[in-house]
Amino acid sequence: MIAHDTSITCESAWHECSKIISDNIPEQSFKTWFHPIKPLKLENKILTIQVPSQFFYEWLEEHYVDLLRKTLKTVLGPGSRLEYNIIVENSKGSSSPYTVNMPTSNVGKNDNIGVTMPLNIGNNIKNPFIIPGLRKVNIDSNLNSNYTFDNFIEGDCNRLARSAGYAVATKPGGTAFNPLMIFGGVGLGKTHLVQAIGNQIKVNNKNKVVLYVSAEKFLNQFVDSVKNTTTNDFVNFYNYVDVLIMDDVQFFSGRGKTQEIFFQIFNQLHQTGKQIILTSDRAPKDLKDIEERLLTRFKWGLSADLGTPDFDTRIAILEQKMYNEGVTMPNEVVEYVAHNINTNIRELEGAMISLLAQSSMNRKEIDLDLAKQMMKNFVKNSTKEISIDFIQKLVCDYFTIPVEHVKSKTRKREVVQARQISMYFAKDLTKASLKNIGSYFGNRDHSTVIHACQTVNDLMETDKRFRADVEELSKRIKISTL
Ligand code: ADP
Ligand code: MG
Repeated sequence: MIAHDTSITCESAWHECSKIISDNIPEQSFKTWFHPIKPLKLENKILTIQVPSQFFYEWLEEHYVDLLRKTLKTVLGPGSRLEYNIIVENSKGSSSPYTVNMPTSNVGKNDNIGVTMPLNIGNNIKNPFIIPGLRKVNIDSNLNSNYTFDNFIEGDCNRLARSAGYAVATKPGGTAFNPLMIFGGVGLGKTHLVQAIGNQIKVNNKNKVVLYVSAEKFLNQFVDSVKNTTTNDFVNFYNYVDVLIMDDVQFFSGRGKTQEIFFQIFNQLHQTGKQIILTSDRAPKDLKDIEERLLTRFKWGLSADLGTPDFDTRIAILEQKMYNEGVTMPNEVVEYVAHNINTNIRELEGAMISLLAQSSMNRKEIDLDLAKQMMKNFVKNSTKEISIDFIQKLVCDYFTIPVEHVKSKTRKREVVQARQISMYFAKDLTKASLKNIGSYFGNRDHSTVIHACQTVNDLMETDKRFRADVEELSKRIKISTL
């Protein structure tokens, strides 16, 4: 905390705040919502920041007010406040925009986020969730009430997981789904779904002790407990919960000691009929460096996967998010975004939010042009390595043919075309040698790859439809690797 230094400037205060904020939210959100903010002044512990529009102000208030409040308290100490200065467009035409000041909505709100941790377990059990630097409170279930079943859109991609989750929420510990393991790639809704289960359980029975924790946090808490010789307290604390939701268990890979302690807790909870819910970014059988006996436990109940949402589900998700935010966008824009972002839901949301932010910042209507512009920026940011496997999968999905076909000897026209296009992208977007590329396509030699690249180049010049396909694919590959 740097509060007692009266010489602190608003810039340095905001700089400190930014550091904390950026550690706590995704990079894309930080860029979208916090980069455009300018610190204006700091007086009597009131920090005034300038935001580009009313919309920004509302968004920050709606989504980040708790984080801002805690951050400010950490940096400036108790009693600190935030004020916004909003640039407002002057509707009377030419004169320059003026600004208005707005306070934060819940300045005086209590920091204590509600104590659901039962206190009758004896004061000698330490709660590992106490965050140093912030007020020492027994924190609640760690559930975010925004994640519910109601706003978890159902589609083919999540039907089994969702209904199993619902069953567990209705009868925690009382179904065959114990543990319930939800797995799937990043941004496909694992956290949302398991949080929804937790929230639903609390709605049905507020006395149930539900605890949501990420495996990473659990791991850190365990390491701390070893350092402080409080491992017994740590284990006792966990043994006390009725419903344990452990997010992203792939974090346990290679962490033998943590796995051991989790194994103990798992057994204890399971034996006493408590519900365990796990998520993982891959199927249990594909988890690496997890002890066999723990893996066996993971497989005891039900494993259900979350897949990539199809086009209609993507539209439904976008429409719901817009409804919740109270914004509208022309159908063609919604379709454009749903069409172009087909990887995961987090990116889908990211694209929508970035559209809203740009439209607000530049005071432009959200239309197809703006959407296209935004998509270009999305593509430009592409940084990740692209693999040949990934290219093959994306191209084959696009033409709806099985990936094995492009690796086979088949000379069927559509397969040849998909194979050549995949080779073309492999040459264009990876550092692989021609020989190496050939090896991914049923061990073809380098001259085949050269031929494929030439053919694709030629066809792009002469065949409009072909060119459109390749351009579309190019865009999809780039977006998927954001
Ligand atoms: P994961 O934990 O799998 O990485 P998240 O649960 O964080 O993914 O989901 C990413 C974002 O997508 C969240 O904002 C979540 O609310 C949203 N989301 C995921 N699945 C759905 C769905 N079926 N309906 C509505 N929103 C969803
Ligand atoms: Mg998650």
